[in-house]
Amino acid sequence: MNETWTGGCQCGAVRYEVETLGRASICHCRMCQRAVGNAFAPFVTARGLRWLAAEPKRFRSSNQVQRGFCAQCGTPLTYERDDAAPEVTIASLDEPSRVPPVIQVGVESRLPWCETLNGLPTLTPEEAQAAAPFFASIVSNQAPT
Ligand SMILES: [Zn+2]
Repeated sequence: MNETWTGGCQCGAVRYEVETLGRASICHCRMCQRAVGNAFAPFVTARGLRWLAAEPKRFRSSNQVQRGFCAQCGTPLTYERDDAAPEVTIASLDEPSRVPPVIQVGVESRLPWCETLNGLPTLTPEEAQAAAPFFASIVSNQAPT
């Protein structure tokens, strides 16, 4: 995928550009679960990654890897191995729907309920209608894009 990709954190303090995206994956390992506070971590290799304003703060999660996140809003942004190209969280890209994961890794820690997510019910029309005033009242502080 040779085009300039952009992304950033929720508050907009950290923005980045990427020259070339590589393999997109989801990682189920326990360290990635903790790092993103989620069931699994979608990452894509980001060659030519450039920070446009502030750099992320970093936590060295092991002797091999540091992980970047926004110091102001906490958005998880990178997985940076010392000996390989960095990766960015797919959902921090401005167009994450264009970057479908192609492989799962760390499956020894995959949460068993991941396999049944697509079968979960969604809100009924009545429930959605009841929730509508709350959603209509939200004033977002999220940076645009
Ligand atoms: Zn931020």
